Amino acid sequence: MRGELARLAKEGQRPSQLFLTCADSRLVTSMITSSGPGDLFVVRNVGNLVPPPGEESGDDSVAAAIEYAVDVLRVRSITVCGHSGCGAMQALLDSEPGGARTPLKRWLRHGVPSLERMADDGRPWARLTGRAPADAVEQLCLTNVVQQLEHLRGHESVARALREGALELHGMYFHVGEAQAYLLTEADGGGLFDGVGVADMSA
Ligand SMILES: [Zn+2]
Repeated sequence: MRGELARLAKEGQRPSQLFLTCADSRLVTSMITSSGPGDLFVVRNVGNLVPPPGEESGDDSVAAAIEYAVDVLRVRSITVCGHSGCGAMQALLDSEPGGARTPLKRWLRHGVPSLERMADDGRPWARLTGRAPADAVEQLCLTNVVQQLEHLRGHESVARALREGALELHGMYFHVGEAQAYLLTEADGGGLFDGVGVADMSA
């Protein structure tokens, strides 16, 4: 590892992917993606949210990371990764109008479009191959990945790179209890998540 880090320090980072996931302590990005130093440019926040661009009092931190990854590092893909049992999604489901406007509540407003998407009867639901979502939280976790990818497409640097064919967007769902990653394979309005290789939890 020391030699690898010395090389990266000398040559600089050239990650091929921006990985955006939740701050949840159970998610270990290197394990989920089998990656090492220099592979991923990572953004983590509560609920793996991507605030839409240009919003008043929006969030510059996520937007800056996206701009840097796409325009400077020229990553070839961006992955938004949600997970099972997400406290942010649970909080969104439990939220009631009014009450104190804490930083957490203000931040979670970027997840409200995911709630609305789930409530939209005209849209097929986001789903997993092989089984139905366990409950409303899991349904929202899946829907939120699809919705945040839509927010991502609204960012100027992302839209440009997509037009040029220089960037791919991916959705992922990590089930903690199953140690199983699911990849978004169809974003046909709803979204279908397919199980991929099981993460090696013993490593
Ligand atoms: Zn979470």
